[in-house]
Amino acid sequence: MSFYENTLELIEKAAKLMKLESNIKAVLTSPNRILEISIPVKMDDGNVKIFRGFRVQHSDIAGPYKGGIRYHEEVNMEEVKALATLMSFKCAVVGIPLGGGKGGIIVNPKKLSETELEKLTRGYTQRIAPFIGPEIDVPAPDVNTNEKIMAWIADEYSKVRQKNTIGVVTGKPLTFGGSMGRDKATAQGGFFILDALAQEHGLEPGKTRVVIQGFGNAGANAANILDKHGYNVIAVSDSKGGILCEKGVHPIKAQECKLQKGSLHACTIPDSKYEYHVSKDATCTKISNEELLELDCDVLILSALENQITKKNASKIKAKYILELANGPVDDAADTILEKAGVIIIPDILANAGGVTVSYFELVQNQMNYYWPKEEVEERLKAIMQQAWKHVRKRQEEHGCSMRMAAFIQAISRLSELMKVRGTI
Ligand code: NAD
Repeated sequence: MSFYENTLELIEKAAKLMKLESNIKAVLTSPNRILEISIPVKMDDGNVKIFRGFRVQHSDIAGPYKGGIRYHEEVNMEEVKALATLMSFKCAVVGIPLGGGKGGIIVNPKKLSETELEKLTRGYTQRIAPFIGPEIDVPAPDVNTNEKIMAWIADEYSKVRQKNTIGVVTGKPLTFGGSMGRDKATAQGGFFILDALAQEHGLEPGKTRVVIQGFGNAGANAANILDKHGYNVIAVSDSKGGILCEKGVHPIKAQECKLQKGSLHACTIPDSKYEYHVSKDATCTKISNEELLELDCDVLILSALENQITKKNASKIKAKYILELANGPVDDAADTILEKAGVIIIPDILANAGGVTVSYFELVQNQMNYYWPKEEVEERLKAIMQQAWKHVRKRQEEHGCSMRMAAFIQAISRLSELMKVRGTI
């Protein structure tokens, strides 16, 4: 089952549970607009290479489309449709006035020079410029895109429009209209949700063993935040493999080392030259990505890509709780297996909604041209995440269902209400 088919299946299941009108389901399963574009880039060697890009605008019933742009060799339209759909649901779970969109370019940015990457980003922006804007569609970073890329988009869009329009994207550098706390927002929001769960389930941070798949924006920040709150992060991984440090990973050192050496696998040996002791007892072992997922732990945080746990490995998962910082990391078949095994999954549209929530704050601050301190951003984020947790838990009790279904029901209820008020149905 593809990621998009899986997403449609989840909507179908939630619709049945809540006895949803078929008209509403029809609207929710049809993205409003789908763009497929070609971007010619004159490469450093003088040859022109054509890149393919996408932007899907799923729903703007709650507000401007909102969603990241992914640069990856395996991005495809089906994936972007799934991610755009999830964005509409995610914004609705946390109750922010934004819709759902997503974009992507088929590219491995690590194979491009900085000049080529900038040309590609500016070319993509020109192609989608007629369809985006602070009140229309507001992109953000996702896998392999970052604040530098967002700054190029904001600059290019402002040139096309002939006026400073920095609110066209979020996740920008602080010096160029970014919000305090946006860099860590996805992980921070996930932490507030995990904290609420820990309180309900009596989890003590010092006795809680955490494994994290993916060591980028979401994963590395999660490692750092959890470590600061006393959790024992025992293993982390990136696309090249994982490291297991029984006495705990040192997240900041691991981040520095990965930056310097290119992969976590290169960071198992203490390096006196750079003072890297990525493990708290200076011994770490290399493990494969498959092994990492199957480690004995309390909390498994998935912060890489979709479809990481499927029916192939679901029965081998030993974690008691799964926090989905990535979008769609557990497919529907795996969901069923894990639910039967008593594993509690905190679904993506709740767990990683902190990112889009602070993106919303960034948009608000850009429109006011007035900026909040870090503490204010964090407090506002905490309030929204805690409220979303309560709403989802209430739906779960009402329907006696999984947390994923409860989050979908919460989102669909809000979107249905908006459709009724606006006269869509
Ligand atoms: P990123 O590019 O910063 O990091 C991705 C990380 O995953 C990298 O460390 C990469 O090496 C690693 N990775 C890739 N394949 C892997 C594999 N098979 N096994 C282990 N590690 C692997 O991306 P990100 O922004 O951290 O996004 C990660 C996930 O979180 C995505 O699903 C994204 O959609 C989701 N997400 C991100 C944000 C955000 O604000 N950045 C918000 C919401 C959701």
